[in-house]
Amino acid sequence: MRQSQLFPKTRKEAPKDAESINHKLLVRGGFIDQLMSGSWTLLPLGFRVVSKINQIIREEMNAIGAQEMLMPLLHPKEIWSETGRWDKANEIMYKLKDVRKKEYVLSFTHEEIVMDLLRKNTKSYQDLPVAVYHFSTKFRNEPRARSGILRGREFMMKDLYSAHVSEEDMLSYYEKVKEAYAKIFIRLGFNFKVVEASGGVFTDRHTHEFQVLDANGEDTIFACDTCNYAINKEIFEGKVGETCPKCKKGKIEKLNGLVEVGNIFPLGTWYAERMRVYFTDEEGKKKPIWFASYGIGPTRVMGTLVEVNNDEKGIIWPTAVSPFDIHLIELPGAKNADKIYKELKESGTDVLWDDRDVPAGEKFAEADLIGIPVRLVISEKTGEKIEWKERTSEKSELLSFEELLARLGK
Ligand SMILES: [Zn+2]
Repeated sequence: MRQSQLFPKTRKEAPKDAESINHKLLVRGGFIDQLMSGSWTLLPLGFRVVSKINQIIREEMNAIGAQEMLMPLLHPKEIWSETGRWDKANEIMYKLKDVRKKEYVLSFTHEEIVMDLLRKNTKSYQDLPVAVYHFSTKFRNEPRARSGILRGREFMMKDLYSAHVSEEDMLSYYEKVKEAYAKIFIRLGFNFKVVEASGGVFTDRHTHEFQVLDANGEDTIFACDTCNYAINKEIFEGKVGETCPKCKKGKIEKLNGLVEVGNIFPLGTWYAERMRVYFTDEEGKKKPIWFASYGIGPTRVMGTLVEVNNDEKGIIWPTAVSPFDIHLIELPGAKNADKIYKELKESGTDVLWDDRDVPAGEKFAEADLIGIPVRLVISEKTGEKIEWKERTSEKSELLSFEELLARLGK
């Protein structure tokens, strides 16, 4: 991609109302644009990052046998009335009426829709288990739509739903998803905790949250200083400093500043009983389907990545989700810029080529702001060679084109 053609250009100043780091840096870098409070466009750079986050999630979902599909966002009132959530979830729903006075809701989750699919398509125990997921927009009437892209009224979500013949099978798949989520957050480079939380209105089991440690985060948890035991502040009943109930060795400490990036819910038969979703077991008996749901917010993940990977100059993307692999900076007197760009692309490297006629200092400052992990410079000074500099290092070195390809593993 030629930077001269990239839409839009970076901005020197952060928006006046921006308080959080992700809001300031993602807007300045040209990754996102705010339409209104809590409503964001993913600009081409932001869309690239989220697409890479989604691909990591997709790979780990497919690895545990989940199947991708896509469900609608406009839902009829009737389906939400079946579980009573049309009234119970009133505060967070965006409800609307069409010209014929028919009522709808803009989706804030899809349990009822998956249940309807299961009701139509599941007859016997042989049709189970089922695990389906999609990447889709969610709408939530969020009174505190701030913190940049961390808290939106409209945001992207990957939600997975699984259906089972028994509690045992549901809980065994729940553990698989927990492991898959951990793999995703490890691949994203997060320092995170898997935290026990309450099930809320819809299940009496404990659920789990994936919380990233971030100095600016808003959540609080209690965790063992020795093992991986961690518990949400809503259900924590002990005291700071007491012995961990799990490992019996460590002490419980209070951790502030966390951001929730995923959560998983073993919902049980609550939905199946209300929506009459039954299967026939091996003895011919009708039983309600066991159900669980699992969510990750990719746009929130992008915001959190910026919150934890930045310095005074800008963003520092982890390689796995960087919008480009390489930022190629062309300065006056550079030889073969066209050729280097073309050959890098042919080697399968994703390159942003700064081909613009602007001062070197400006190019470097913008490269640091955008945060691609590797910067290559070609100029009169570098001659036939190419200067390699990593975003996290002050050092640079000169490489031949062959050495560069080898460095990139091409
Ligand atoms: Zn412990």
